[in-house]
Amino acid sequence: MNPSVQRLVILGSTGSVGTSTLDVVARHPERFEVVGLSAFQRMDALAAQCRQFRPRVAVVPTEERAAVLRGLLDGVATEVVVGAQALCDMAAASDVDSVMAAIVGAAGLPPCMAAARAGKRLLLANKEALVVGAGLFMQAVEEGGATLLPIDSEHSAIFQCLPEDRGTWAQRIDHIVLTASGGPFRQRAPDSLHDITPEQAVAHPNWVMGRKISVDSATMMNKALEVIEARWLFSLEPERVQVVIHPQSIIHSMVVCRDASVLAQLGTPDMRVPITYGLSYPERIESGAPRLDFLQLSALSFEPVDPLRFPGLQLAWEALRAPAGSTAVLNAANEEAVAAFLDRRIRFTDIHRVNAGTIEALAPRLGPVTGIGDLLALDERARTHARGAIQGLAA
Ligand code: NAD
Ligand code: MG
Repeated sequence: MNPSVQRLVILGSTGSVGTSTLDVVARHPERFEVVGLSAFQRMDALAAQCRQFRPRVAVVPTEERAAVLRGLLDGVATEVVVGAQALCDMAAASDVDSVMAAIVGAAGLPPCMAAARAGKRLLLANKEALVVGAGLFMQAVEEGGATLLPIDSEHSAIFQCLPEDRGTWAQRIDHIVLTASGGPFRQRAPDSLHDITPEQAVAHPNWVMGRKISVDSATMMNKALEVIEARWLFSLEPERVQVVIHPQSIIHSMVVCRDASVLAQLGTPDMRVPITYGLSYPERIESGAPRLDFLQLSALSFEPVDPLRFPGLQLAWEALRAPAGSTAVLNAANEEAVAAFLDRRIRFTDIHRVNAGTIEALAPRLGPVTGIGDLLALDERARTHARGAIQGLAA
């Protein structure tokens, strides 16, 4: 074993962030060793990754898929294991230094917690895990001695604008400004939003991403989740996290300091930049992303968020002010609503109805949240409520 080599696990390696991570890793074979991969679907894609990167282990959700994967692996020594506990074991294994959390949704929370408790370098793309885990997630990072590195481009931008010593952050930050592209419907008349199809909603103007986050970008629920994520990552009161629409996605976010100085991170919209920063931190290495050509930029513009077009954004601050667990409720409702919209069971504008209705019904009567088990139970309760609302809307 070479101690200068970073031994890496990628949770959700076949997704958009997962494949971009492997693209960066392949550029630096001397720096990274892929120890483990995981995927939920697309065993053919996972098999191809195993052939190229030769991980010790690959995790899949069912025995059926394990059999498919083993059949595709012929000759590759990767051990194929099954189930949610296997994901946690892989994320906490002693031969692993870094974990890229690139699963979509609350399903990523248990392996993130396992990596945090085991003191890994945790590269967090899976924002839903932090939105659900909230204070308990941050506590696990602290107690486990883990290093939490944001991969979401906005949070990576903020992180890149701050000094290494976290103890100085509270003193120097007045507030932060998360930029949002506004997605595909930034200029669409609010009263025409109900006709939007899944195909239109996933066609993001600036970023190529998984289907769930693409729908979240179209509703701006993605930004709502990012406000919650930022509150925890940078330990800020909710009011000190602000959002502005910046359609070009060149400024990835900004820190407004106490002295009114503004620090920003800029670049082409390519997830390999924040991914590479997480992988190489505190160094900087080649990401493969195209350089920003300032002479080709026509303008950098900014707009307020129209609350009629994007009513979901406000739910972030509402959920943060509501009792602990409310952000887990919001996330669960949204996951169910987005899945129902992608299945054409509800309309685009119903996503907000489900989310707001589920928070309103559950948030005022939440019990104490003392462990991750409470949060997972709450996640299930919120999903049951949201599914009922979806059935009502679909009828
Ligand atoms: P994706 O849908 O492209 O990929 C998701 C991956 O997770 C796949 O490998 C899939 O097999 C796996 N997966 C899905 N459901 C699972 C489950 N229940 N259990 C275990 N594995 C499961 O998603 P993505 O766009 O790569 O996004 C991943 C995460 O990163 C999301 O939380 C998203 O919000 C965040 N993120 C993505 C981008 C982006 O550019 N795509 C940018 C910022 C943040
Ligand atoms: Mg983002």
